[in-house]
Amino acid sequence: MLHIGVDLDNTVLDATSTHLQYYNKVSGLSLTPDDVNDFYLYRLYGWDETERAAVYHKYGHDIHWNSSPLPMAVEILQQLYNHHRISIITARPLLFRDVTVEWLKLYNINYHNISLIENKLQECINLNVDVLIDDGPHYAEEFALANRPVILYEQPYNLSVTNDLVYRASNWIEVKKHIDYLESQSNRSLLA
Ligand SMILES: [Mg+2]
Repeated sequence: MLHIGVDLDNTVLDATSTHLQYYNKVSGLSLTPDDVNDFYLYRLYGWDETERAAVYHKYGHDIHWNSSPLPMAVEILQQLYNHHRISIITARPLLFRDVTVEWLKLYNINYHNISLIENKLQECINLNVDVLIDDGPHYAEEFALANRPVILYEQPYNLSVTNDLVYRASNWIEVKKHIDYLESQSNRSLLA
């Protein structure tokens, strides 16, 4: 059994489409997923962090509520939940805790623990998480430097990240294969 940390935005669910939908509405632009080459979507609109914060504060609830799960994410998470410990670890602010919990309930996604926190590395150390599934290139690099494995959910803005401890997955079937491999490795080291 592994303790698996699971990010939400652009890992379990399609955050890009809903962000673009609301950011387009606010800006009058009409960007599409093909335009996305930056983890920080707001920069594609020429916004600074303050402008982004104002838009996110106003529309964040609707953005999160209206996002859809990525293909097979719900089914594979259900399988993983039956054999492993699942901690949802998202950098969403506490302001959006309720909509996040309700969204997980809506899609019948089970988990043992949920953390809304920006410092994911420290949280994973505190919780004894064995592996994090995330799309953030900065998290993948930070975890690899700290000698911790990451399953990097492939997105256009994380293609350049490579490291022996970064297991790249372009869909949830591949996520599951990496988990099975990591579990076999941990069983082997326990026996050694
Ligand atoms: Mg994410």
